[in-house]
Amino acid sequence: MKEIPKAYDSKKVEDGIYKAWEKSGFFNPDNLPEENIKKDKDGNDLTYTIVLPPPNITDKLHLGHMAMLAIEDLLIRYYRMKGYRALWIPGTDHAAIATQNVVEKKLLKEERLTRHDLGREKFLKKVWEYLEETQAVILRQIRKTGASLDWSREAFTLDKQREKAVRKMFVDMYEAGVIYRGERVVNWCPRCHSTLADDEVEYKEQKAKLYTFKYSKDFPFAIATTRPETKLGDTAVAVNPKDKRYKKYIGKVYETDFCGVKLKLKIIADRHVEMDFGTGALGVTPAHSMADWQMAEENNLEIIKVIGEDGKIKNNFGDYSGKSIQETRKIIIEELKKNNLIKKEEEIENNLSLCYRCGTAIEPLPSEQWFINVNKKLKQLGNKSLKEKAIEAAKNKSIKFIPERFEKRYLDWMENLHDWCISRQIWFGHRIPVYYKIKNQKSKIKTANQNSKIDNKDKEIYVGVESPEGEGWIQDEDSLDTWFSSGMWTFSTLGWPDNFKDGKKTGDLARFHPTQVLETGYEILTLWVSRMIMMSLFALQEIPFENVYLHGMVLDERGKKMSKSKGNGIDPIEVIEKYGADAARLSLLIGGAPGNDVRIGEEKISGQRNFVNKLWNISRYVVESRKSKVESKKLEIGNLTLVDKWILDKLNNLIKEITDDLDNYNFSAAGEKLREFTWNDFADWYLEVSKIEKNKDEILVYVLKQLLILWHPFIPFVTEEIWKNLKPVPSSSLRENGARREGNNLLMVEKWPGRERKFSFPTAEGDFKLIKNIIIAIRNARAEYKIEPSKKINVVIYAGRIGNENFRSLQSQARLIRELRTGIDKLEIKEKGDKIDQAVYVAVGGVEIYLTGMIDGEKEKARIGKEIDNLKNMITAGEKKLSNKEFIEKAPPRVVDEERERLKARQAELKNLKKQARELK
Ligand SMILES: [Zn+2]
Repeated sequence: MKEIPKAYDSKKVEDGIYKAWEKSGFFNPDNLPEENIKKDKDGNDLTYTIVLPPPNITDKLHLGHMAMLAIEDLLIRYYRMKGYRALWIPGTDHAAIATQNVVEKKLLKEERLTRHDLGREKFLKKVWEYLEETQAVILRQIRKTGASLDWSREAFTLDKQREKAVRKMFVDMYEAGVIYRGERVVNWCPRCHSTLADDEVEYKEQKAKLYTFKYSKDFPFAIATTRPETKLGDTAVAVNPKDKRYKKYIGKVYETDFCGVKLKLKIIADRHVEMDFGTGALGVTPAHSMADWQMAEENNLEIIKVIGEDGKIKNNFGDYSGKSIQETRKIIIEELKKNNLIKKEEEIENNLSLCYRCGTAIEPLPSEQWFINVNKKLKQLGNKSLKEKAIEAAKNKSIKFIPERFEKRYLDWMENLHDWCISRQIWFGHRIPVYYKIKNQKSKIKTANQNSKIDNKDKEIYVGVESPEGEGWIQDEDSLDTWFSSGMWTFSTLGWPDNFKDGKKTGDLARFHPTQVLETGYEILTLWVSRMIMMSLFALQEIPFENVYLHGMVLDERGKKMSKSKGNGIDPIEVIEKYGADAARLSLLIGGAPGNDVRIGEEKISGQRNFVNKLWNISRYVVESRKSKVESKKLEIGNLTLVDKWILDKLNNLIKEITDDLDNYNFSAAGEKLREFTWNDFADWYLEVSKIEKNKDEILVYVLKQLLILWHPFIPFVTEEIWKNLKPVPSSSLRENGARREGNNLLMVEKWPGRERKFSFPTAEGDFKLIKNIIIAIRNARAEYKIEPSKKINVVIYAGRIGNENFRSLQSQARLIRELRTGIDKLEIKEKGDKIDQAVYVAVGGVEIYLTGMIDGEKEKARIGKEIDNLKNMITAGEKKLSNKEFIEKAPPRVVDEERERLKARQAELKNLKKQARELK
């Protein structure tokens, strides 16, 4: 047997272990030992699949990733050990807008260039160069955490295989009439020059001016707005149909001159207009408000665009044309004031919409975009729409949410879902597979940044997986929303579309789809999870995953969000270097409930590192103590002592509990139970007893091995390293593993244990608990009376009151009571007897215990007396302090609370000492 190092050095061990795992090939489920694999009732191998939510390619590993990796690796390792072909697919996301922004910023900073200076081709080359660096970094970091991902199936949302899948999906959806081109008011970022999805818009409370004014002298009433400049595009005024003030105007059309621009305004009724906001009348600007766009469609209003994609006033607005929004607003206000048309100016709080990428104010404006129609009834979905099917999947529980409360959030969002705008005006990403050709060669295409607006009659359109043949085709300039490709992640990584022929899944797709769990942060439930469900329903007519497990955010120890600027961030790679990956994983797995935020700080991590070291030391003790024996006696059930039965029975129950907990995603509870058993039951009790009762090698090794298996999904590195040091136990009654195949002796492919009937000893727990409590009571009494550890005492125990059986049980355990750090010289166990004078008395579960020889009566009386005086003084001082008003009011509440606690503790101690003094008499 090898010499085991005294201390566990994670830094020396982890990389080597990860290499050994990779070399074994077991990360790939196809390579798992055949004899490990369980079958379903049809004789097929059981599979368990998770797709890793692909981190953005520009990401550096943060604690949120680490939490995700720890949870998913735990699940994958657990199911692998349970006999499933466990597949965990790695990959990265190209994160179109985010990545393009990072590279644009870098370009501007380093070379003072914009992407337009470079042009599309050169710019994209820059992006790819940059990606190669960052992709390598994040993938290396993921390995550091111990993640047992099948690297042979690694994918990237923008690689060749995924590009094929994306184009096929687009073409299929286009042909099914799900994808369409339409004009719509979109969230437009004038800086990014791109549309943003509703949930890519951030809101910031700010003060704004609300102006109440009349369009002109001859317009009959005033309206209110915070954006007077957009009023240049008003085509109606909306009022509430119930509003008596305006009833008579409804249906009328007014032609008026608004600050030099002619407007034709129809008065319309809309029940959404709030009667008590402003004047109760709203100018309707269809081109620059989503709500107004809706009203325009319902009332057949004209749409006049005022603001262009560059954020400036468009042509045809006279002097205003080409001016910025701010400038125009100023001129209009001045104009209105000059004509005495402003009735009121007031400051209000309102929500400003900002681009989530760059913080620029969003301009809602109409634009030609590609959309996914979520309400179109589809034949392949039984004449239901994507939206209806996605709602149904949650309602009929084919997809379950953990924790359950997220189902409601998902459904709320789904039920309010509008058509999904999938085109983005950026260069990096999947380019839309649509091509145009001008029929009349004379009209030239304007090569603006935007799609050339060409009338459909004049151009041919080609939509296809392959590029079109022939000359003159020009591809749509836009790219797809990044969620379009990541929405296909569960099946594009499993070989779709090649593995899907005539509505039948083949290959990996047939074996591993639908996947079992999607584990991700709750903040992308709507952005990503919902889209994955719709995409899979469309492509495969099946759900992408059976369970959605949502983890919370990782916060600092005070419950604050971590951020670089606040300096409270923790870099997981630094943590791994300093404390080891296992300690970092454990800190993230323990102390959090599903969906709840988890708090973490250095103290917690170093505490978990201490536990990892403890496990190492326990193992070292077990291995070393076995080594020192020439031969160990074979263990037979008949020879088991009470404590043996107790630990085996407890372990048996623990296995059942941990299995249940992991099946139900209670990772934290499982970890806490394992820790309690390992540290308390096994180390503090069983290991200590083994020094007295001896010949426990077989059980020690057996329990340790089971513990290593149970711990492995949580802390894979240290458990694997210890496992290496354990020689397989030769022909033992405790291990039924037959000959093991060479190379299969890694812990990661050990079989997950079940309950062993032969180790069920239902009475052992209660019996040993009594012994434990007696020992603890004796230790506590010694501590309370401040007895030197070396001083021996005498103990008399009366068991009689609870009957013969306990008397015999206590007698049989006399050695443990005497020797387990109780410092007993002479121990007598009797059925019953008289009260003993000059002794300390304690009762445990009906058993009476007298401790003698502990105290020298007179000396002890003097000591206690002195201590009582001392305490009384301190209590008086404390009470005085707490009755001092100034102290109570001025001191920080924490200090006052501490003072109160101290006082309470002293009062309790005084009571206790007085009791001791009485007993001495
Ligand atoms: Zn922006």
